Amino acid sequence: MSSSVIDLLATEARFGAQNYQPIGVVLTRGEGVWVWDIEGNRYLDCLSAYSAVSQGHCHPKILAAMVEQAGRLTLTSRAFHNDQLALFYEEIAALTGSHKVLPMNSGAEAVESAIKSVRKWGYEVKGVADGQAEVIVCADNFHGRTLGIVGFSTDAETRGHFGPFAPGFRIIPFGDAAALDAAITPNTVAFLVEPIQGEAGVIIPPAGYFKEVRELCTANNVMLVLDEIQTGLGRTGKLLAEQHEGIEADVTLLGKALSGGFYPVSAVLSNNDVLGTLRPGQHGSTFGGNPLACAVARAAMRVLVEEGMIENAAAQGARFLQGLKDIRANTIRDVRGRGLMLAVELHPEAGRARRYCEALQGKGILAKDTHEHTIRIAPPLVITSDQVNWALEQFATTLTQDLS
Ligand SMILES: *Cc1c(COP(=O)(O)O)cnc(C)c1O
Repeated sequence: MSSSVIDLLATEARFGAQNYQPIGVVLTRGEGVWVWDIEGNRYLDCLSAYSAVSQGHCHPKILAAMVEQAGRLTLTSRAFHNDQLALFYEEIAALTGSHKVLPMNSGAEAVESAIKSVRKWGYEVKGVADGQAEVIVCADNFHGRTLGIVGFSTDAETRGHFGPFAPGFRIIPFGDAAALDAAITPNTVAFLVEPIQGEAGVIIPPAGYFKEVRELCTANNVMLVLDEIQTGLGRTGKLLAEQHEGIEADVTLLGKALSGGFYPVSAVLSNNDVLGTLRPGQHGSTFGGNPLACAVARAAMRVLVEEGMIENAAAQGARFLQGLKDIRANTIRDVRGRGLMLAVELHPEAGRARRYCEALQGKGILAKDTHEHTIRIAPPLVITSDQVNWALEQFATTLTQDLS
């Protein structure tokens, strides 16, 4: 079997569904903020697998927990108890201040599970007539790729030719509290929203938006469901992005960095009411809450706190943001971010962001374009000052070129 870059790309193209268009680099090894391709070139990872590898690639303590657990017990299903689940519950509840936990695997499954749960809460606690529950969501949302979720996407590529879709969703503009006020009806059970819209291009809502959202949800007995799958676990410089807004969600969704990139682990966190409506047999997952997932997630949460990664995200994120703002380049239209969730939006005339990402690859930086003109930057939370400085030099030389 041959394994040159060209052969591997051709084999992928021949056998794989073409639902991705990756940058032409084939990675084989990772450590901390760095990854290496099969030709031995080293890159600073400025995507972190969309924030799943926040703790850095192959973190030794998470690896050790995974290997130890994998040699002991990996899967029992929830037909039996396992000795890791209770500890996972206890530690994630303590970390996030939650009352109840529902373990799932992918982020999309956590979102689907939350929608099922808030609907059930709506019928059984709020008293909405059966079949009438409404969930409000935002335009330009990204909550995953399952059928239920893509049905309330506003992106044509995401939805196109995948219907028919489930009813029961209302779409309002992001960052507009008056629109939420107008959209709420007696049948509204929840408002599902990202604290910062990541896939949309790191869109930060106006100051005070979430305070108003919180008040509207409370006043109307509507569950506020924050999708923190990308923003959570330190990415924005606080444990949860809601802490920047001084609010608390009723339901919080975590995924991605919950396993430090080792394994798909997600969770729905809630007050007692919402998850309390689920009875035996009404929801489940073969792999959800398995001992390997729990052991990995426990280690991933532990290193995040013990190694000061959240504080580091705040400090290095502020430096990175300022450094990007200081770059004087005609190509740049806007620079924004919070913590280590950053984006550079290019002027449309500057050419496509993908060209700049390819140029960055040549300088040893892997970053990802989103929506044609935006480069998102989300390195592991373990990045150092020297590494930020080096990355800024590469961004400065790349962004001052005209690649249109
Ligand atoms: C990545 C992501 C999801 C979906 O997670 P998957 O593990 O890919 O299913 C949902 N919501 C947000 C905000 C995300 O960034």
